[in-house]
Amino acid sequence: MSGPLPLVFDAPRRATPPRHFADLDDAGRAAAVAELGLPAFRGKQLANQYYGRLIADPHAMTDLPAGVRDQIADAMFPRLLDAVREIECDAGETRKMLWRAVDGTTFESVLMRYPDRNTVCISSQAGCGMACPFCATGQGGLMRNLSTAEILEQVRAAAVELRDRDHGRLSNIVFMGMGEPLANYNRVLGAVRRIVAAPPHGFGISARSVTVSTVGLAPAIRKLADERLNVTLALSLHAPDDELRDTLVPVNTRWKVGDALDAARYYADVTGRRVSIEYALIRDVNDQPWRADLLGKKLHGSLGPLVHVNVIPLNPTPGSEWDASPKPAEREFVRRVRERGVSCTVRDTRGREIAAACGQLAAEG
Ligand code: SF4
Repeated sequence: MSGPLPLVFDAPRRATPPRHFADLDDAGRAAAVAELGLPAFRGKQLANQYYGRLIADPHAMTDLPAGVRDQIADAMFPRLLDAVREIECDAGETRKMLWRAVDGTTFESVLMRYPDRNTVCISSQAGCGMACPFCATGQGGLMRNLSTAEILEQVRAAAVELRDRDHGRLSNIVFMGMGEPLANYNRVLGAVRRIVAAPPHGFGISARSVTVSTVGLAPAIRKLADERLNVTLALSLHAPDDELRDTLVPVNTRWKVGDALDAARYYADVTGRRVSIEYALIRDVNDQPWRADLLGKKLHGSLGPLVHVNVIPLNPTPGSEWDASPKPAEREFVRRVRERGVSCTVRDTRGREIAAACGQLAAEG
């Protein structure tokens, strides 16, 4: 590796994707329908089709008069994403999709089926500007922000896939794919609003089942709390001390561990929701017993019972010198965090063999 990568908060200017129905809120939909000279009830019909029946092609919307379908397709339903590649593992229970947007940008989503839930992990940006050195996505830099519709199309595709294979409904959404969701705040917020809104205004997925992850953009965490959407917040901490976190999560040079935890506490207070702390355990880097003690102490002091730690065995990335901690070190780490009165478990890492696990999404075309 040749020195640290720069942090990038503003996406480079690239062609923006065409406007899509899913980019629009209720007022925007009404305006778009009026622009086409159509009666207002068509807006509700389109929403029913898209969010309720998961149809994005007006030609398949049988309650629309044939004569307006082309017009609606051209104005509101441009094709945004093509599935370039699909790989599965875990006996088909984990499926990674590689998407290509109209400007050629690629990014990924991962659908994971569990006995009690179906979860899709979606991308909020193509690439990522946060430059975490242990993460494959971070090494490629930020290509661009995804639009609200590009985010929602990943959700719709997952729901369609489950339905068409008789695998039940999509129940959980995690913003843990490519990108830092809170660095693409407005578009992600638009997507979250439409994910949790009841049909026909959105997909009707419970806010409790939606997780937004962040490396700790403290002001944006507070802003998200004030939206009162009550989604689950996952803070990727990875180190309890500033000295190490400055190198593992470079945004820490801007917002320190204390700033991120204060913001997380604010989030928990405002929403009443327990915050998840993500901790990728890396052999001989952040897995020392004293760091487990410090993590437990800091979390107990700042968040008390309003926190749960997910220890994630590091997913090796190609060319990286870092590796997961040995199991005994992992068990001892968890034990010590719990000893401080903090709830802590090791997270199931699905999709490791298809490079679909956290920190491995690199959109190799
Ligand atoms: S770990 Fe997350 S925030 Fe860090 S570079 Fe990777 S995708 Fe970005």
